[in-house]
Amino acid sequence: MRLSRYFLPVLKENPAEAQIASHRLMLRAGMIKQQQAGIYSWLPLGFKVLRRIEEIVHEEQIRAGHLPVLMPTLQPADLWQESGRYDAYGPEMLRITDRHGRDMLYGPTNEEMITDIFRAHVESYKSLPMTLYHIQWKFRDEVRPRFGVMRGREFYMKDGYSFDLTKEDALHAYNRHMVAYLRTYERMGLTAIPMRADSGPIGGDNTHEFLVLAPTGESEVFYDAKVPELHLGDREVDYDDKDAVAEICKEFTSLYARTDETHDEALFNDLPEDRRCTARGIEVGQIFYFGTKYSEAMGATVNSPEGKKVPVEMGSHGIGVSRLVGALIEANHDEKGIIWPEGVTPFHCGIVNLKQGDAACDSACDGLYAALKKAGLDPLYDDRSERAGAKFATMDLIGLPWRITVGPRGIAANKVELTSRRTGESEEMSAEVAVARIVDIYEAHR
Ligand code: ATP
Ligand code: MG
Repeated sequence: MRLSRYFLPVLKENPAEAQIASHRLMLRAGMIKQQQAGIYSWLPLGFKVLRRIEEIVHEEQIRAGHLPVLMPTLQPADLWQESGRYDAYGPEMLRITDRHGRDMLYGPTNEEMITDIFRAHVESYKSLPMTLYHIQWKFRDEVRPRFGVMRGREFYMKDGYSFDLTKEDALHAYNRHMVAYLRTYERMGLTAIPMRADSGPIGGDNTHEFLVLAPTGESEVFYDAKVPELHLGDREVDYDDKDAVAEICKEFTSLYARTDETHDEALFNDLPEDRRCTARGIEVGQIFYFGTKYSEAMGATVNSPEGKKVPVEMGSHGIGVSRLVGALIEANHDEKGIIWPEGVTPFHCGIVNLKQGDAACDSACDGLYAALKKAGLDPLYDDRSERAGAKFATMDLIGLPWRITVGPRGIAANKVELTSRRTGESEEMSAEVAVARIVDIYEAHR
C-alpha cells in the first residue's frame, strides 16, 4: 500500500476522552472512530489488525478440529424464554421489537441458539464429539463502556460450543480449547495466563479466564512468578490425544494463578515470598464447562450407546477478538506509539523515502516495494512529500515492527537502513539483503 493512497487519519493531539494508552493510540493512529458510547467504526488500519487476529483465531480453532459456523446477531426472545435467561439477563440485553410485535434481542452470547441448532439436527452420540464456533458481533449494554474497544457495547467475539456424550469427553473438549487458546495468544505475541475463575451460580471449578498482564487491566490477579515463563512454543499437539492434551493443561494450570474472585490467601502464602506476584490483568478469553444446563432446559438430547435419550454435555468458550486489539497495544507500546508483534501487524514493513521526487530514491523505494510484494508480504510505503521527521513519527505511531529507510546518501553507496521498532536499532545493508531479512523474519510467523 502507498500511504498517499491510504486512509490513515492520524491525530496530532491526544484525544481528551481516552484514559488509557491503547484507546489513545487507536484513536491517534486512525484505527477506529467512535460512533456512540462503546460503539466503533473500524477504519482501514484497525480493521486490518482485527482481521489478522480473527484469522489466527480461525486457524487455531480449525487446527483443534472445531467447525466454523455463523449465527445471526438478532435472536428471537422465545429461545431465551426456554432457558429462563430472557428475564434473568437484565438491562445488559438490548431488546428489540419487529413490525409484527415479535420480541427479539441483539445477541450477547449464543448458548440458546446453538442448542436450538443442535437439537434440530443431532440425534445420536455417533455425531459426537462436536464443537461449533463462530466469530460474530455481540451487544451488551454495559453500564460503563470505557477504554475504547476494551469494554465496548458492541464487540466482536469468538464463541464456541462443545457437545459431548459424557462429562469426561466434555472435559477433553475443555482441555482442547485451553491448548488451542494458548497457541492462539502465543501466535499473537501475547502472554495470556489461564487463571482459575469463578463459575458463578453453576458452580464447579471447570472455568478458566485468560489474562494478559497490564497495569490498566480491570481484574486483580495473583500468580506464581514462574507462570509467565511457561510457553507452548512450536511443539506438535495431537488434539485427539486426551492424555497429551490434559498433560499440557496440567503444566499450565498447576502453578498458582487466580483472579481475585477465586483467590485463596492461604494457598498463595505457601509460595516462597519472592514468587508471590500481584498484578492487574485484562481478560481476553474464558473457557467454561457447564454440563447439561442448557441441554436439559431446551431438550437437546442424544441417543446413547445403550439406547437411552440423554441430555448432551456442553461447554462454551470465548475469545474477545476486538478487545484483543486493545490488549495487544496495552502490552506493546512506548511513548512514541504502538509496537505490533510480527504475528498481528497490519503491514509487515514500512518503507520511508527521505527524498520523494529524487529519481534514485524513488526508484529504490519502488524496487523494495515490488520485491516485498513479490515475496508475499504487505509493505506500507510512505511516498508522501513530507519531512523525514513527520514520516518517522507516523511510522512510530502506527507501530510497524520493521522500517526500511531510503535516502540519497545511502543509495549512492547502495545502502538502505533497516530499523527495528521494538529496539530502535538500525543497520545499513543493501536493499536485497534488507528484503531477505524481512522475508526470513516473517517466515518464522507463517
Ligand atoms: P467481563 O468480565 O470483562 O465483562 P465477561 O466475562 O462478561 O467479560 P465473557 O462472557 O466471558 O465476558 O465473554 C468472552 C470474552 O469476550 C471475554 O473474555 C472478553 O475478552 C470479551 N468481552 C466480554 N465483554 C466485552 C466487552 N464489553 N467489550 C469487549 N470485549 C468483551
Ligand atoms: Mg468472562
